[in-house]
Amino acid sequence: MKKGFFLFLLPLFSWGQVTSYLEDSVKLNYSNSIIVKDLKKHIQILASDSLEGRETGEQGQKKAAEYIANCFKKVGIPPYKCKTYFQKFKVKSKGHLRQRIILKQKYVKGENVLGFIEGSDLKDEFLIITAHYDHLGKKDTSIYNGADDNASGTSAILEIAEAFMKAKKDSVGPRRSILIMAVSAEEKGLLGSKYYTENPIYPLEKTIANLNIDMIGRVDKYHENANYVYLIGSDRLSTELHNISEEVNRKNFNLKLDYTFNKKDDPNRYYYRSDHYNFAKNNIPVIFYFNGVHEDYHKPTDTTDKIDFEKVQKITRFIFLTAWELANRKERPAINIIK
Ligand SMILES: [Zn+2]
Repeated sequence: MKKGFFLFLLPLFSWGQVTSYLEDSVKLNYSNSIIVKDLKKHIQILASDSLEGRETGEQGQKKAAEYIANCFKKVGIPPYKCKTYFQKFKVKSKGHLRQRIILKQKYVKGENVLGFIEGSDLKDEFLIITAHYDHLGKKDTSIYNGADDNASGTSAILEIAEAFMKAKKDSVGPRRSILIMAVSAEEKGLLGSKYYTENPIYPLEKTIANLNIDMIGRVDKYHENANYVYLIGSDRLSTELHNISEEVNRKNFNLKLDYTFNKKDDPNRYYYRSDHYNFAKNNIPVIFYFNGVHEDYHKPTDTTDKIDFEKVQKITRFIFLTAWELANRKERPAINIIK
């Protein structure tokens, strides 16, 4: 009933009106289709011992890549140019960036996994949503499962992909194309996203924004409850992007958006420490979604049983609706701040 009703109305509105009409009704259905059960399943699989910590170049990372590609296939996303879901690369490893351990340099083979959702009337502009799926691997007998870092973000992009494909099948957008990209070699120095931005499959100047998700399943020591997320970078290039994100939250979620780590003099320098930075340095507006570090950060104890799945669900829905705005608005977010 509903679907037929909206299809009947579509020709009566211009796209701009349709999207605002859809705002309070249809798009919430897609957002609400992102549920704990599915997010949990992805995290359990990606952070299981059998994937051995997903270190780039190792067997576990290859298995994770296959799993992600299969998820894209299942929701109806075709492989890039009918051939593959993978952007393969070979890069020099610099060791683990965050731990600042400089390992002996060696080459690693990794792959980014690409799920491309073609847009409708604005399909030549691109929104990129990223999460890294690699982690630290195993050392001796310890497996670094990386449930929060970053099976949580990877599960989010898989569910966002599914929700947009549902909308596409119902002929309600997205107007712009969306590239959902699971990135590898992040833990080795943001190498997968660096490779993508140096070898972009879709033109960077037509890339309107990057939303990057890295750790959204835990609560840090600075917050008493889970109803928050740190946003980093949202106002660094485009005030409009920041305002869109704020408005989506205010209307739908009432999360506490914490900008502590967005300060220019933040000693942690998180702005430079996940994949969004490779887009930002190319003048592409970004938002980095992050829950902060915790006692299990980069330890074998970052496991699935400690994940707050309700939190993952809420933040994923928030990112989905932000992406919906960016993909369907008449204009791309204007860049008004020159670095
Ligand atoms: Zn991470």
